[in-house]
Amino acid sequence: MTPQVLQSQTTNEVTRRMPLFGKPKDAPTQAPRSRKKKEMPEGLWTKCESCGEIIYNKTLEEQLRVCPKCQHHFTLGARERIDTLADPGTFHELNGELMPLDPLKFQGPAAYKDKLLQEQATFQMRDACLTGTATLGGHEVMLAATDSRFMMGSMGSVLGEKVTRAAEHALEKRLPLIIVSGSGGGARMQEGLFSLMQMAKTSAALSHLHQAGGLFISVLTHPTMAGVMASFAALGDVIIAEPRALIGFTGPRVIEQTIRQKLPEGFQRSEFLLEHGLIDCIVARKELKATLIRFVEDFTVPHVPSHTP
Ligand SMILES: [Zn+2]
Repeated sequence: MTPQVLQSQTTNEVTRRMPLFGKPKDAPTQAPRSRKKKEMPEGLWTKCESCGEIIYNKTLEEQLRVCPKCQHHFTLGARERIDTLADPGTFHELNGELMPLDPLKFQGPAAYKDKLLQEQATFQMRDACLTGTATLGGHEVMLAATDSRFMMGSMGSVLGEKVTRAAEHALEKRLPLIIVSGSGGGARMQEGLFSLMQMAKTSAALSHLHQAGGLFISVLTHPTMAGVMASFAALGDVIIAEPRALIGFTGPRVIEQTIRQKLPEGFQRSEFLLEHGLIDCIVARKELKATLIRFVEDFTVPHVPSHTP
């Protein structure tokens, strides 16, 4: 056998056995690992993502998922968020029946319709947003919360429609509107243009509310980015942020790569944005409900004169 033939055969052999991606088809499979695992009690402790402290889950829940050592604010889902704000038993969901469609028949690493089914099962929600009426300290409000875990809290047609209807309901019933945003995803790319249109739609609805003298309080949580921040989340009459939340349009790493400059310390964090005037105040989660009640009272409850002239 000549070296060329040998070379050719070897290459063929390698090509057959080693596809470009994934494992070779006839690669030996590993023997299944022993299922015996160290018995560890699950779900009792959480490690703080910021300081590494091991926190007893019950304590974490009592602290509204804020680390007792470093005050790191863990992510809250939409339902948990509403539970921390609404007076017990007063939240009545509106437009909960809205379901996302797949207008583009989007196929990516995962088909959009499959991804939706998976997220819906995981988070027990139809889409990344809950809206409804509730009372806060006895004051009726329109309350919405997006869920940054459900497809990264991205805004598709349903989230946009729910925020729009929330603004319209607030206008019709003369209720203060409170939206708690958390979105790392911005506009939902799987819905393409339908998703981008929600930016204009939500902004227009909030503009009507504003023109009619309604109150909209926007609460920004970690992270509030891209299409969500570039539309309804930035339009509050009052804009409140949780401590150390990442808030912006494009992420800091992409900006740094684009402008080839180092960004200042704390760029796009709540504290930096407060200093530069984008937000009105930073409020720790424990103080959020009381702060919202104070704003609602200040802006909407008529003041009774304390003395007669
Ligand atoms: Zn911590």
